[in-house]
Amino acid sequence: MNFFDLHCDTIGECYLQKKSLKTNDLHISLDKAKDLEKWAQLFAIWIPDEKRGQEALQYFKNVYDVFLREIQNNESDISFCRNSEDIDKAFKASQYSALLGVEGGAAIAGRLENLDFLYDCGVRLMTLTWNDSNEIANGCFSKDTSGLTAFGKETVKYMQGKNMIVDVSHLNRKGFYDVVDITEKPFVASHSNSDKVYSHPRNLTDEQIDIMIERKCLIGLNLYTKFLGESEQSGCDEALKHAYHILERGGEKVLAMGTDFDGCTVADKIAGIDKISVLADYFENHGISKQSVENIFFDNAKIFFSRVLQMQ
Ligand SMILES: [Zn+2]
Repeated sequence: MNFFDLHCDTIGECYLQKKSLKTNDLHISLDKAKDLEKWAQLFAIWIPDEKRGQEALQYFKNVYDVFLREIQNNESDISFCRNSEDIDKAFKASQYSALLGVEGGAAIAGRLENLDFLYDCGVRLMTLTWNDSNEIANGCFSKDTSGLTAFGKETVKYMQGKNMIVDVSHLNRKGFYDVVDITEKPFVASHSNSDKVYSHPRNLTDEQIDIMIERKCLIGLNLYTKFLGESEQSGCDEALKHAYHILERGGEKVLAMGTDFDGCTVADKIAGIDKISVLADYFENHGISKQSVENIFFDNAKIFFSRVLQMQ
């Protein structure tokens, strides 16, 4: 099958645990992906909330070095893609496609020139916050419930000008509406589910989902047990409920996958990229058409990235 995943923390784990991307015991490794025909992975470099200012930027650089090293060590299998043409080229050469994101706008340390630096490093998506506050905005667990800062608004506009994808996962509700107000181009929620199906500050309300559908955005379904449902083994059935709900609201072209692999706990049955077909089969066997399954697991994200990451 083909698979396009909007979020994983694998590269950060390779850095912290000194592991290789090729062979490891994480959710994602190149070995585990071998049965996938086409695979595009957005690798997020997560910035811990304790890191701010230069320290946050330095943390990005440290993990980025590991990312580059791992891509280089496996360059016949996987290609670092900076635009839509790169993705197509990689697939044509039977390579996997690696895209780079940053999870936590703290990485730019409050300066737009660092955003340019990130872009030049090949970063094409930035999750504005993690759970707490930073120079740009407040995360969904911050005590500060206000929206984007003045610098945050400048950052979002600057990102859209550069065709860098704005990611609202982890952002608080007010911040979300600020992004809606100041953006013209579509944005993404790379790894968030439905708050109606399972109420959680990390999940999206129906109103948010409706706006994202209207704006032709992208919502990546998150497999973290705690965002899916009550049970510690929440998995296929709960993921199906979230998917079904978003589809029912008209999200046929908006729903994608944002597994959160290597950043969270996933039910055993689907815990790893080698098991992603189990979830796809489950969807197909439970009332989601084959075409919709293909849209969710690959096509929607592929089309979105082709549209947004045009050659410049
Ligand atoms: Zn996350």
